[in-house]
Amino acid sequence: MDTKLVNRKLFDEVMVPNYNPQDIIPVTGKGSKLWDQQGNEFIDFAGGIAVNALGHCHPHMTKAIQQQSEKLWHLSNVYTNEPALTLAQQLIQNTFAEKVFFCNSGSEANEAAFKLARKYSFDNFGPQKHEIISFNKSFHGRTLFTVTVGGQEKYREGFKPTPAGVNYATYNDLESVKKLISNNTCAVVVEPIQGEGGVIPAAEGFLEGLRKLCDKHQALLVFDEVQSGVYRTGKMYAYMHTSIAPDILTSAKALGGGFPIGAMLTSSKIAKSFGFGTHGSTYGGNPLACAVSNSVLDTLNNKEIINNIANKHNLFINKLKEINKKYNIFNDIRGQGLLIGCELIEKYQGKAKSFVNAAKDQGVLLLVAGPNVLRFTPSLIIPDEDIIKGLTKLEQAITSIVGA
Ligand SMILES: *Cc1c(COP(=O)(O)O)cnc(C)c1O
Repeated sequence: MDTKLVNRKLFDEVMVPNYNPQDIIPVTGKGSKLWDQQGNEFIDFAGGIAVNALGHCHPHMTKAIQQQSEKLWHLSNVYTNEPALTLAQQLIQNTFAEKVFFCNSGSEANEAAFKLARKYSFDNFGPQKHEIISFNKSFHGRTLFTVTVGGQEKYREGFKPTPAGVNYATYNDLESVKKLISNNTCAVVVEPIQGEGGVIPAAEGFLEGLRKLCDKHQALLVFDEVQSGVYRTGKMYAYMHTSIAPDILTSAKALGGGFPIGAMLTSSKIAKSFGFGTHGSTYGGNPLACAVSNSVLDTLNNKEIINNIANKHNLFINKLKEINKKYNIFNDIRGQGLLIGCELIEKYQGKAKSFVNAAKDQGVLLLVAGPNVLRFTPSLIIPDEDIIKGLTKLEQAITSIVGA
C-alpha cells in the first residue's frame, strides 16, 4: 500500500481525530526547507504556524539545547534557574514590562493574562468589575477560558457552560467598543493584528483608541501577541509600531522558535495581584525551554536581520501581486512583516484549503487563516531565493486549480 495511505491509517487508528494532517510526514528540516519520508523537498512558508522564526534546526538553537541538556533540564518552580532569570531580564529590558510569568503555550499565557486581569480588578475595585471585551474573529487559544474570550462561536460549540462576563466588539470599530465598555469592564483583549481570523491588521488609531477607552474606565488593555510577537511584524512586538503600550502582553509561538514556551508580560503594579500561591505552572520557566528561547532572542536581536524582515515582506507582496495580475484570484493581499494573508475572490471563497493542498503537491507549504485566506508565516530569516522558489511553486499550484 502507498506509504501515504499507511500513514493515514495509522494516524486514524491511534490519534484522537481533532486534527486532519496533510498526507506527507516531514522527517527533517533545515532553514526554510523540509524533507518528507520519501526525501521530497518542500519550501516551508508555514513555519510551524509562526513558530519557527529561525527556520528548522538553526545552529544557535541546536547548540543552546545541546549545552543546556547536559547541565539541567527541569526543576519546577520550587527553585528558580539561570536561563529563566536571563530570559525575564531580556524581555523586560526590551519592552514595556517590569515583570514576567513563564508558561508553556499561547493558551496558557492568555489564561494567565485573563485571570490576572480579573484578579487585579477584584483586588482594586471589587468583584463587579470582571467583564472582558474581546473581538469577533479573534483567536486566543483552546482552553475553556480562551475559547470563551476568542471571538469564534464554533470553538465554543458543545463545550458550554463557558465562563461568564465576556462580550464581543467588532475589530477596527471603536464605536462598537464604546457601546460595551463600562466601569465594570476589567479588560479589553485584542490581537494587534488578527492572525487566525484572517490576517487583519489594526486600522490606524484603533489600538490607541482602545488605550484611551481603557484608561477612561480603568480597564486593563491586554495584547495577545502570541502570533504577532518576537519580530513577526518587523518589530519585537507589534505594539511597538504604535505610540502606546498594553498593560499585559502575551507571547508564545516564536518565543521558543520551536521549543514550547509562553510568557505573560506586565507591570509591577498589576503583577502584585498574582501573589504567592495564586497561579502557577509546573513546567513554566523550565531551564531547557528558557535556554532555547534566550538563543532565539539573542540571534534575532540583530539590526540586519530585523531590517531584512521589511525587505522580505516587500519581496513577498510584490511577487504575490505579480501572480495576482496574471490569475486574478485575490481581492486583498495584506499583512505586516512576515505575517501575510491573501484573501481569495468571491469565486474561490471557502476554497483556501484546496490551494494549500495543491501547493503542497507542488512542494510548498502554506497555511489558511479561515476558509478564504491563504496565510504565510515563514522563518524570519528565509533566504530570498527560497521565497522566489516557493512562490513559483505556488504559481504552479494556482495554475493547477484555475488553469493557465
Ligand atoms: C496560536 C495562538 C494562540 C494559542 O497558542 P497555543 O500555543 O496554541 O495555545 C493564542 N493567541 C493567538 C493570537 C494565537 O495565534
